[in-house]
Amino acid sequence: MQLEEALARVVGAEHVLADPDRRAGYERDWTGRFGGPARLVVRPRSVSEVGGVIEVLAGTGIPVIAQGGNTGLVGGGVPRGTAGRSSEREPPAILSLARLCAISEKESDPSAVTAGAGATLESLQAHAGRTGMQIGLDLAARSRATLGGLLATNAGGTQAVRYGTMRDQVLRLEAWLMSGERISWESGGQMEGHGYDLGGLLVGSEGTLGIITGATVRTVVPPRERATALVHLPDLPSIVSLVGELMASAVVLDAVEWMSGSGVAMVCEKIGIGLPELDGDRLDPGAGEYLLVESAGEPGTFRALGLALERVLTAGAAVGVASTTEARRRMWIYRDHLSEAIQRVGVPHKLDVRVPLGALAEFVDMAEDAVQAIASHAFLQVFGHIGVGDLHVNVVSREPSDMVVDDAVLGAAVACGGRVAGEHGVGVAKAEWFERTGDEALLSAWRRVKRALDPGWQLNPGVLLSAKGA
Ligand SMILES: Cc1cc2nc3c(=O)[nH]c(=O)nc-3n(C[C@H](O)[C@H](O)[C@H](O)COP(=O)(O)OP(=O)(O)OC[C@H]3O[C@@H](n4cnc5c(N)ncnc54)[C@H](O)[C@@H]3O)c2cc1C
Repeated sequence: MQLEEALARVVGAEHVLADPDRRAGYERDWTGRFGGPARLVVRPRSVSEVGGVIEVLAGTGIPVIAQGGNTGLVGGGVPRGTAGRSSEREPPAILSLARLCAISEKESDPSAVTAGAGATLESLQAHAGRTGMQIGLDLAARSRATLGGLLATNAGGTQAVRYGTMRDQVLRLEAWLMSGERISWESGGQMEGHGYDLGGLLVGSEGTLGIITGATVRTVVPPRERATALVHLPDLPSIVSLVGELMASAVVLDAVEWMSGSGVAMVCEKIGIGLPELDGDRLDPGAGEYLLVESAGEPGTFRALGLALERVLTAGAAVGVASTTEARRRMWIYRDHLSEAIQRVGVPHKLDVRVPLGALAEFVDMAEDAVQAIASHAFLQVFGHIGVGDLHVNVVSREPSDMVVDDAVLGAAVACGGRVAGEHGVGVAKAEWFERTGDEALLSAWRRVKRALDPGWQLNPGVLLSAKGA
């Protein structure tokens, strides 16, 4: 029996997309940089259908790429085509989990939400909100990013400085392995809390070890008061020193985001909004640097944030502090639209790196110099979750498939004592650098784990670990 026919028996013919027009939306990533032809897209609706799909695909040798909302930024959720350094051995099957989007209404305990892997972050947030709680994770792709994708990439986001990453949110997880076994794992609760942390292994595994079908994540008590400050300072060292002061202060920080003045000006131009109006020294709002700080907690938070900033802000600062939803939204609008504005400049090389706070200014200078040296007209924009040292470097210059820009930026991160992978993960974009700079004993143990759980090396080959181990 033909593969398509066998899959159609499991999910229905209308959910096996072999026609190029119907596949297209699944074949290229959000940035437009990564993508290639898939053999087909298969869209199961239930956990048992996912099991049926795996039964059909296991042992065929066809690469299997799990896909959620396709908002990943490292090329891990789409066929590779010719981008990056890992070429496809044959067109993969994309296993879309988007239809597994139900959220359990049975939960009696509001401190947790249980949902299918395809539930979007926004739907989880809305569900938690209806029970008076909130999810301890947020990011700009919330309307599309799914529970499965967030877990598979161990996503961070703007609130990671307070609540940690997805690894810190997950309480229970279910997945299918390529052996056809279905595992159900509970954080610290299985087999009396002993043994191997198998579910934990799947968090951050980027679709290389198993297919996550659903999970339970914790919720957190929403703050009673929320305050946001937008601070404008003349240069990056002043921003770095302000972040250090705030992190050491008693203020409860929910988000600490850095944007350059040129980034904010670009958002204004591309999205069509006005520059921020802040009190203080008259600086050119399209130059200098911005820090967006959010604090959340008990009543009095707005006052505490204002006082803390008053204590630590130096001459040359302009600042606005807000507590109403509308005024806070007007501050967040620049950060929320940064990625979208960059997309309007061109297809970016998106490089998400982790750099120690003390080396941040040095890294930005070094990355700028390195990129200019190889592409003098390159557009470069760096911003990020500075509170956790996660920086998003965006370069629009050479062909998307050209890796020279990537090498320049990742090399600068390593030279500054940083790491080549931040919260976006490794994907295909960084697999080679990840292996080159990683601990060899650890990598070799990982390859053995991969081989044990996916002997045919079918799940997302070339992602996280290069296809070498296959
Ligand atoms: C505008 C924008 C802002 C963003 N901001 C952030 C941010 O602040 N922080 C952050 O961490 N990320 C951010 N991202 C990246 C992205 O949203 C996250 O990586 C997210 O976790 C991806 O979820 P997804 O459902 O779209 O996954 P996909 O893109 O579909 O897949 C991502 C990876 O997970 C694997 N995968 C997906 N579903 C499953 C599953 N069910 N089982 C096993 N493997 C699976 C895929 O194979 C792939 O390797 C941003 C993206 C955009 C476009």
